[in-house]
Amino acid sequence: MHVVVEVEEKNAVLRSRAFKRASSQPPFGLLKMAPVETDLYDLLGVSPDASEAEIKKAYRQKAKEHHPNINDPAAGQKFQEMAAAYETLNDPELRHMYDLGGMEGLNGPGAGMGGMDAADLFAQFFQASGGGAQFGFDFGAGGAGPSRRRGKGQDAVIPHTVTLDELYNGKTLKLNMEKEAVCGTCKGSGARGSAKAKACSICDGKGWTNAQTSHGTYLTTSRVACSNCDGTGEKLREKDRCKRCKGEKVVKEKNRQEVVIEKGMADKQRIILPGAGDEEPGTPAGDVIFVLRLTPHESFERSGSDLLTNVTITLSEALFGFSRILITHLDGRGVHVTSPPGKIIKHSDTIILRGEGMPVHKQPDTKGDLYLTFTIEMPDDAWLKTVDKKTLLSLLPPKKADIQPRPEIVTTAAFEEADIEEFGEGDEDDWVEDDEEDEFGGAGEPECRPQ
Ligand SMILES: [Zn+2]
Ligand SMILES: [Zn+2]
Repeated sequence: MHVVVEVEEKNAVLRSRAFKRASSQPPFGLLKMAPVETDLYDLLGVSPDASEAEIKKAYRQKAKEHHPNINDPAAGQKFQEMAAAYETLNDPELRHMYDLGGMEGLNGPGAGMGGMDAADLFAQFFQASGGGAQFGFDFGAGGAGPSRRRGKGQDAVIPHTVTLDELYNGKTLKLNMEKEAVCGTCKGSGARGSAKAKACSICDGKGWTNAQTSHGTYLTTSRVACSNCDGTGEKLREKDRCKRCKGEKVVKEKNRQEVVIEKGMADKQRIILPGAGDEEPGTPAGDVIFVLRLTPHESFERSGSDLLTNVTITLSEALFGFSRILITHLDGRGVHVTSPPGKIIKHSDTIILRGEGMPVHKQPDTKGDLYLTFTIEMPDDAWLKTVDKKTLLSLLPPKKADIQPRPEIVTTAAFEEADIEEFGEGDEDDWVEDDEEDEFGGAGEPECRPQ
């Protein structure tokens, strides 16, 4: 249900639109504003000129308050919205785009996000929900929502975590889904038999009531949807309600769906199940949209249809070559490679295995290339004790002499092994990042995730 309301904000009267409301949510918790939206700031309870640190701090605080709780689905929903808001505002570029154009700015074609729209962004943020289509997420977009949502029900965007193996080999997911379907007993009227709704007694049939909002030093009065009748202005009496849906017009419906992850699909790719989303009376059902979310692979990295991996070879192999199974591929196949005779392989040398990359989506018989970089494993100290050092030294290329021309001043430093991770430690610019990783587990992600 999208309702247009008027909000008086400072000197301007701005037209606003509410979120589609889940039944567990209080109505009109959030209002859309134009031309400059502040919803995302409002979600975090900060002002639009808040500093990065203030946004972080507010998010931490809110994340604790709205921690997803299995007994309180509304909290989970709230948490998701807030987390998505944080994800946007914490990225300076996204925040700038949002400040300029609101959600539409994030969605717009010229938004410079490489084709990714806000729905993807939010979806990308969320963890897979384990197969249930439990949460839809609609950030709307002021008066100009994404056009694909117009004229039909709300789309449910469901992130689904995939491995690189699954994208290489393809996979069929069998899912049990639950969605809202128009009640068959009352055909979506919500009424029992031929009972008719009466004008709502709280709002006198207007559908809205006045609400006062505090903005620190001043109060604004705005119209909000009547919570008694959900803004419809009509209300069915208890005894006139449909027995099956209890006047809700929709019922929960379970079904099974198959989602095919095709070979060569990409990270963030959307798989759309048209019309599989929630139904509302009089509106075509929304879509269920799976957004693939690739988890990093421990040995392969993907870029388009190319793959990259690293192979460790011994010093003997580097010097004298090899002919062996170098890698186990993503389909479990071993790949045997022979190096050319007389070729010394140096650290970081790269070779290409043509046609061993990712399958191309929709043309799975065509594959990209596999790039292989080499790491040379040097023998260890124990090995050195077992060999005749003098002979070995005489066989190897000679050691280097002092730097020439010899510097005038030469000092002596002690040899001490170190950990490169400690390089730059104590640098003042670093400590904020470290602090954040402690709290969020790195990369600005929240410490908990909606289930
Ligand atoms: Zn019904
Ligand atoms: Zn009412």
